Amino acid sequence: MRTIQQLTSEEVKTIKIPLKKAFHLLRTKHNITARMNFSCCGNCGSYELGEIVKEKKLDGYVFYHHQDEDNFKEGGDVYLRYGKGVGAITAHGVGRLIVSVCKEVGLQTDWDGTDEKCILVKGTEYLEQWRKDEERRQKIGRIQQNIKLSRLRTERYEESIISEKDAIIALEKELEELKNETSR
Ligand SMILES: [Zn+2]
Repeated sequence: MRTIQQLTSEEVKTIKIPLKKAFHLLRTKHNITARMNFSCCGNCGSYELGEIVKEKKLDGYVFYHHQDEDNFKEGGDVYLRYGKGVGAITAHGVGRLIVSVCKEVGLQTDWDGTDEKCILVKGTEYLEQWRKDEERRQKIGRIQQNIKLSRLRTERYEESIISEKDAIIALEKELEELKNETSR
């Protein structure tokens, strides 16, 4: 169970990175207009994008509105609203496309496949996974840094051992020379 709490701006940014990527893919690869934080409500947004879709002859649209954005910032999950365009793709087809593109960018969704139902993007799950990955990345970084430092120290020890040995050789040579002088 998760408790509803306000996300930090850092957390919002983290979830929005893959979300932006998904919306970008839908626009550029799938002929679907995709708008984040668009319009005041589901009805207005659907109407406005429906007009754009007709005008630009697109295959569909997807968006989430201002209230969705507020809810997203509180809970971490976001509902996507979508619809068909002027092409052969049905609303269901548009929904399936959105779900698959979300998966492609690492976002899990919850959708029962019906045309009227919004697609829930599980931002909180993404955040949890991201945190775990981040923790692992930091651990790896720390270990790599420790190995590097130990290697540097070892190199320095080796260098100082070599110079100590050279010093002994030089002193022994000097000693030998002095002994030879006195015996002459
Ligand atoms: Zn409205």
